[in-house]
Amino acid sequence: MTAAAASRPAFADTLLNALGPDSVLTAPDAIAPWLADWRGIYRGNAQAVVRPRTAAEVATCLALCSAERAPVVPRGGNTGLCGAATPDSRAQNVILSLDRMKAIRAIDTVANTLVAEAGCILGDLQRAAADAGRLLPLSLAAEDSCQLGGNLATNAGGVNVVRYGMARDLVLGIEAVLPNGEIFEGLRPLRKDNTGYDLKQLLIGSEGTLGVITAASLRLYAATPERQVVVAAVNDAGHALSLFELIYAKCGPRLQAFEYFTDACVDLLLEQVPTARFPFGARYPAYVLIELADTADAAALEALLEQVIGAALEAERCVDAVVSSSLAQINEMWALREEISEAQRADGPHLKHDVSLPIESIPTFLETVEPRVRRLCPDVRPIVFGHFGDGNLHYNLSRPLGSPRDFFQHEGEALTAEVLDEVMRYGGSISAEHGIGQLKREYFAKYKSPLEQRLMREIKAVFDPAGIMNPGKIF
Ligand SMILES: Cc1cc2nc3c(=O)[nH]c(=O)nc-3n(C[C@H](O)[C@H](O)[C@H](O)COP(=O)(O)OP(=O)(O)OC[C@H]3O[C@@H](n4cnc5c(N)ncnc54)[C@H](O)[C@@H]3O)c2cc1C
Repeated sequence: MTAAAASRPAFADTLLNALGPDSVLTAPDAIAPWLADWRGIYRGNAQAVVRPRTAAEVATCLALCSAERAPVVPRGGNTGLCGAATPDSRAQNVILSLDRMKAIRAIDTVANTLVAEAGCILGDLQRAAADAGRLLPLSLAAEDSCQLGGNLATNAGGVNVVRYGMARDLVLGIEAVLPNGEIFEGLRPLRKDNTGYDLKQLLIGSEGTLGVITAASLRLYAATPERQVVVAAVNDAGHALSLFELIYAKCGPRLQAFEYFTDACVDLLLEQVPTARFPFGARYPAYVLIELADTADAAALEALLEQVIGAALEAERCVDAVVSSSLAQINEMWALREEISEAQRADGPHLKHDVSLPIESIPTFLETVEPRVRRLCPDVRPIVFGHFGDGNLHYNLSRPLGSPRDFFQHEGEALTAEVLDEVMRYGGSISAEHGIGQLKREYFAKYKSPLEQRLMREIKAVFDPAGIMNPGKIF
């Protein structure tokens, strides 16, 4: 017996024997890269990383883990922002990565469906749909790293929710493996199926706590190759809201994205992202990026945008606007919005609050939350942006200029409590699209109603009576 084999836990040997050395990593240096989250906030421990190739292999792994009571942490692209794919500190954890389940099983341009395995990278699926002349509308800045399974387990949102809904709205069917190794064969690509409880919807957004998603059938839409993007400057969020009302009324389903960011985001971008191009000659309090898209007739789309922005300027719903004139300019405009997270990361440790509000409350929320955080910390820098059209704000806080990098270790909790209390006062949600994971567990316990928490725990106990699936996440 080699020294490595002698020091290996007995259960890791069981996994190796059942699934083969090609699918099970046990050496500490091979496992090490799998133990931390994307942001580098969380780090855990594990005895093995299992990389199955089929749903049957996932089932084998889960049945063994169930018998052993070994905790299982499903892993997609590890781009989640709440530490949900990072194991806790116990050495018994098994990380189950879907990264080798990458097959696109079918694309049907009559039924407009795509069936793919959980380890497919989202960007690859978008490209496969585009090659078939269709649109897979789920789109987020992490799309070239995140995986379909992770997108569904987090019920990802992204930039096109205003038109197509969240990830769960795109799912027609799911194949998943339950913790005891049973395979849930729910891959039916039916648009209509009213046969009792919709079990697949429980798995969507469950953050790996109920089972492992191995494949899904998704809705495709007609491709929308004609795109027009405008960045409009607004005086405040109230004007952004009235602009949204106008654009939606005039453009209806052509409205593909309605994103918001404040001038403080632009300051950070210009400081931290050398490639950022700001399209205006002057600075304004806030901006919205609006994308319209259509299947055909570029000229009609352009005319519509010009007409509606003209009306908005005349009615002073916005104060300035730059319309894209090329694909390169569309990409530059989108980079402005999508690089804000990167700019904030480069600026140093910060607090993220991915919150959701009834859309009409956003302007008042922004007015009332800022004095609350400034009362605690006058020089904190709110970096506010988000998917405004969905009522989703990233109400992030960067530390005061010149303060130490660990500033939020002392002040963070109190500041977050101020922001989330205020969100709840307006009937909002403490997590719009990133989930709960381990980051928001205590806030979930504080703000989710006792009845909802109890029902969720009872559902968890039905799917996962031994409690092996992603322990310490959500609850
Ligand atoms: C730059 C950047 C921008 C982002 N923008 C957005 C955005 O606009 N909208 C948005 O919603 N999110 C966004 N995110 C967050 C993240 O990309 C999403 O949450 C994404 O859906 C996570 O997918 P993943 O494959 O990386 O999952 P992971 O991070 O690997 O896992 C996330 C959760 O899903 C579980 N899981 C993973 N795969 C499976 C599976 N097959 N079965 C069961 N459970 C599974 C994990 O256990 C974990 O609980 C962003 C992240 C980054 C880094």
